[in-house]
Amino acid sequence: MRTYMYAAQYANFTHARMTLDDVPADQSIFACGSCSECSARCSNSINVAGRIDTLKSMYLA
Ligand code: SF4
Repeated sequence: MRTYMYAAQYANFTHARMTLDDVPADQSIFACGSCSECSARCSNSINVAGRIDTLKSMYLA
């Protein structure tokens, strides 16, 4: 979600990429490539799945 913050909210793509690169590949957006639909849910109603979809379109397209 920090990558999303930097990329989508601050348009700071350098920090977004640095943050993404710090996450182990099997735990980062690259692991999301195998999911057709994100099932992540937040108890505080933050649209995690929507943010994942945005990140997928940015980094997996
Ligand atoms: S459920 Fe969502 S966050 Fe988890 S791997 Fe799939 S797309 Fe990624």
